[in-house]
Amino acid sequence: MRVGTVREIKNHEYRVGLTPESVHELVVHGHEVWVETGAGLGIGASDQDYRGAGGIIKDTAAEIFAACEMVVKVKEPQPGERAMLREGQILYTYLHLAPDPEQTADLVKSGVTAIAYETVTGPGNTLPLLKPMSQVAGRMSIQAGATALEKAHGGRGVLLGGVPGVMPGKVVVIGGGVVGFNAAQMAVGLGADTTILDRDPEVLERLGIHFESRAKTRFSNKANLADSICDADLVIGAVLIPGAAAPKLVTRDMLKCMMPGAVLVDVAIDQGGCFETSHPTTHADPTFVVDGIVHYCVANMPGAVARTSTYALNNVTLPHALKIADLGWQAALKANPHLAAGLNVHAGKVTYEAVATELGYDY
Ligand code: NAD
Repeated sequence: MRVGTVREIKNHEYRVGLTPESVHELVVHGHEVWVETGAGLGIGASDQDYRGAGGIIKDTAAEIFAACEMVVKVKEPQPGERAMLREGQILYTYLHLAPDPEQTADLVKSGVTAIAYETVTGPGNTLPLLKPMSQVAGRMSIQAGATALEKAHGGRGVLLGGVPGVMPGKVVVIGGGVVGFNAAQMAVGLGADTTILDRDPEVLERLGIHFESRAKTRFSNKANLADSICDADLVIGAVLIPGAAAPKLVTRDMLKCMMPGAVLVDVAIDQGGCFETSHPTTHADPTFVVDGIVHYCVANMPGAVARTSTYALNNVTLPHALKIADLGWQAALKANPHLAAGLNVHAGKVTYEAVATELGYDY
């Protein structure tokens, strides 16, 4: 199969659909891979790196959209890209169609076969192509919070790990799923005094077994939450209620008990945020202060570490890309119901029930 990847054109998107190593794997499997010039610059991969991996460099995205049977990307196609999609072509990328009627209409019109990373499932109701980005955001949240705690960034001037003779900082993680677990790992690794709250007893048990005495676990209810955040230096918001907006677990009123210069990192901001006082921010201007509390609310945290994020993403997307290229999309989806769950649009029809229902398409 001829597979292509293009330079991402969404604002501040530096990741790329295929790393040189992924291109090499596809080439070893007997496929031809076209790469738009400069596609990997955001992750430090040059055209020469892609050539060395067996890729063929093309000057424009248009050539790739015109001639490749499958296009592998990171973000949803932008309007100019959508205009280049063709009937029978496979598009394999993040799509997030439910809140995006314009994109959905364009994909339907194009006749493309669109497989969305975010709806590909894994064993036990998991979403394995979303997981690496949660891992990245969770780990980054402690780094971002530690920086915000510095005086120059408005924080209360606390080093999370402390030093010999000085107490470490207190970190409270609300939500012990993928983001929360990874945040706690980093906090514990730094030597911070770490508490994780969740309302799922099984999650609490798993965390308890993993961290033993290195982190405390606490059931998440209003009283425990209020009590935990009052003496926290850093609070990480990492809750998710699938398919719903994040619950506002920390109200403005609750900030009153917190210490001036304490920091909130609202990783759940992409679902509306779990602090009442949150609003989305960007990497260019990541923090703001409400009632003396520093808020970090960047909605696309993994974008800041594009290289790590791209490699983490390719680790989970490439095995499916190889199957699609090796077997053709029909056989690949037939062989793997988890991959089949990724099919969102095919031949002018919305093929994913939740998207069809949300946007009023026949299903
Ligand atoms: P997850 O499903 O793995 O974990 C969510 C956890 O929240 C679960 O353990 C659940 O039991 C817990 N929870 C639900 N309600 C709770 C409550 N009231 N109190 C305490 N815990 C509660 O989800 P995840 O992958 O860890 O993602 C968490 C959030 O981070 C999501 O909103 C996700 O979209 C977001 N996220 C943001 C970025 C970013 O760049 N900002 C990147 C990746 C993920």
